[in-house]
Amino acid sequence: MKYFGAHVSAAGGPENAPLNAHKIGATGFALFTKNQRQWSAPPLTPAQIAAFGENCRAGGYAPRSILPHDSYLINLGHPEREGLEKSRTAFIDEMSRCQALGLDRLNFHPGSHLNRISTEECLDRIAESINIALDRTQGVTAVIENTAGQGSNLGFRFEHLAYIIDKVEDKSRVGICIDTCHAFTAGYDLRTAAACDATFSELDRIVGLKYLRGMHLNDTLKTLGSHVDRHAPLGEGVLGIECFRYIARDSRFDDMPLILETPDESRWAEEIAELKRFSEE
Ligand SMILES: [Zn+2]
Ligand SMILES: [Zn+2]
Repeated sequence: MKYFGAHVSAAGGPENAPLNAHKIGATGFALFTKNQRQWSAPPLTPAQIAAFGENCRAGGYAPRSILPHDSYLINLGHPEREGLEKSRTAFIDEMSRCQALGLDRLNFHPGSHLNRISTEECLDRIAESINIALDRTQGVTAVIENTAGQGSNLGFRFEHLAYIIDKVEDKSRVGICIDTCHAFTAGYDLRTAAACDATFSELDRIVGLKYLRGMHLNDTLKTLGSHVDRHAPLGEGVLGIECFRYIARDSRFDDMPLILETPDESRWAEEIAELKRFSEE
């Protein structure tokens, strides 16, 4: 089964996300479980948790089709103690919110060294942050997203993802999410079926496709290896539509959320319909 969706609005509370996903014909979705630009949020109420569960059941959304995303403020590899502690506390709260909502994974960007520590030191901190969060929560997998490598963001090489996973103690609760725009601008070609074959073989060899817990389907305005993160509607960027047809038709991407983060929300229904058509070809 293919779960196609978009990162939908959770304005008014997470219980609204499955309703917004249903409106665009999505079979999966992503959401923020709190305001992504603030450090803290009031705890979820029992009524919100119950409504979220009910709306997910009504829309046919099982946890494996849902990919929550954490706050952009969190940096699990922060070079300074205060920033690191703040990030770790916020991340544990995000994981706990997912657990409370009955969700089984949380997608996050690994972290940034801010040019103050080495790549290796930063990756070590990220792995330690994950270990701490897994220790304090239950049933939620930490899903590391690959990045474009803009600024000092790590996670743009598959080797970074492999390095972190290697240092995570509970391998059953760590995974990865591959964002097509980020992969491409990080230097991994995905423009043709042959390029997709090569990139996903490399991912399998270096990290292991068994860790894949979701994908972000985005075209890109920027070129191969540019390390600049600018999403575009499917088929309208430098990547082109072939990449998305490839993913929609390939069973290695079954049973996980395949999420649009494309810029024009008014086109999500159309983009999801196209992905469904590809998967049925
Ligand atoms: Zn992301
Ligand atoms: Zn993404």
